[in-house]
Amino acid sequence: SSGFSPPSGSRYDSGSAGGSGRAEQVEISLVIPVYDEEENLPVLHAEIAEHVGGMGVSWEVIYVDDRSKDRSFEVLLQLREEDPHVRIVRFRRNFGQTPAMSAGFEHSRGRVVVTLDADLQNDPKDIPALVAKLREGYDIVVGWRKNRQDGLMLRKVPSRIANRMIARISGATVHDTGCTLKAFRRELIANLAIYGEQHRFLPVLSLASGARIAEMVVNHRPRIHGVSKYGIGRAARVALDLLTMKMLSSFAKGPLPYFTMLSLPFVAIPILYFAIGFLGPESLSFSTRWAQAMIVTLGLTSMAGVYFILLGLLAELVVKLNMRSDRPMSSRHLSVRKAALSAGPAPV
Ligand code: UDP
Ligand code: MG
Repeated sequence: SSGFSPPSGSRYDSGSAGGSGRAEQVEISLVIPVYDEEENLPVLHAEIAEHVGGMGVSWEVIYVDDRSKDRSFEVLLQLREEDPHVRIVRFRRNFGQTPAMSAGFEHSRGRVVVTLDADLQNDPKDIPALVAKLREGYDIVVGWRKNRQDGLMLRKVPSRIANRMIARISGATVHDTGCTLKAFRRELIANLAIYGEQHRFLPVLSLASGARIAEMVVNHRPRIHGVSKYGIGRAARVALDLLTMKMLSSFAKGPLPYFTMLSLPFVAIPILYFAIGFLGPESLSFSTRWAQAMIVTLGLTSMAGVYFILLGLLAELVVKLNMRSDRPMSSRHLSVRKAALSAGPAPV
C-alpha cells in the first residue's frame, strides 16, 4: 500500500460502485475496507444482516475492495447478488485502509456512517448500541477495545503510547482511537480528507468542527482467517502522522514560530556591533585586524539569522496553509476541544 492518492475518482474501476438508486434515503451506511478477506466476508455479512438488518431502519453496506489479491471481489459480487443492501467500490490498486475508508465515505449516503474492519475482529453485534449512543446527541462514538485481542508488544503497547500522545496533543482522552469500529454523523466526515494512516485520528481531526465525542466499550475478537496487514511500515506512518500533528500544534501555539525567535540574537548582535563601530569611540577603528575578522564573522552570523527568519516564515506558511485546508491538523483548532468535550450531548 502507499500513502499517495491521486484525485479521487481515478482510483476506482469504473462502474464498480453499484447498488440501488442514489436518491434513496438511507439511515445507516457501513463502510468496510477489504483487503484479502475472502474467508471472512460471508460470515461478516451474515452477522451484519442479522444485527443491522434487525434494527428496522434503512441501511446499506459499502465494501471497499482495496484491490485484493485473493477472491474477495468475487465474493463481494456474490453477496451483492444476494442482498441489495450491498454496494461495492473497487480500487484500481492497493491504496491502504485509510484511502479505502475515505472512498467509502464519498460513496455513502447514510445520515449515520459506521466503520468497521472486514476481518471479524470488530463485532457487528455492537452496532445497534453504537448508533443508539450517537443518537443521544454525539457526533462520533468511538469503540474501545478494552479486551483487545492483538499482540502485546507489537500492537497494544505502541497503540497505548500513541493514544497517550494524542491525548497530550489534543486534550481529548479517547482511549482507543485506533479502533476502527466507530459511528459518525455524516456532516462531520463528509468533508474531511484523510490520507496516510489518519483514519485513526478522525475523532481528533473532527474536533476542529467542534465534534462531540463519546466512547463505548466494544467486543474484540482474535483474527481467525487471513493475516493482519499491519506491519512496521504502517506503524512508522502512524508515528509520522502523529509527529506532524504535534509539530503543527506547537508551531501554532507560540507568538512567533520558533525559528523566527531563534533568529533574533543573530540579527540583533550584528546590528549592535555595527552601531557601536560607527557611533562608538574613534579607537574602535575598522582598520584593526580584530575589527576586520569581526566584520566577516558577523556577516556570517547575520546570514544565519536571515535563514532562521526564512525558516520561521516557512513554518508560519505551513501552519496557515494547514488551517486553510480541509485537513485541520492544528492546535488552533484543537484548542476548541475542551469546550467541545465538556459540552456533553447536544439536542438531536
Ligand atoms: N485493509 C485494507 N487495505 C490494506 C490493509 C488492510 O483495506 O492495505 C483492511 C483489512 O482488510 C481490514 C482492515 O483494513 O478490513 C484492517 O486491516 P488489518 O486487520 O490488517 O489491520 P489490524 O486490524 O491488524 O490493524
Ligand atoms: Mg484486524
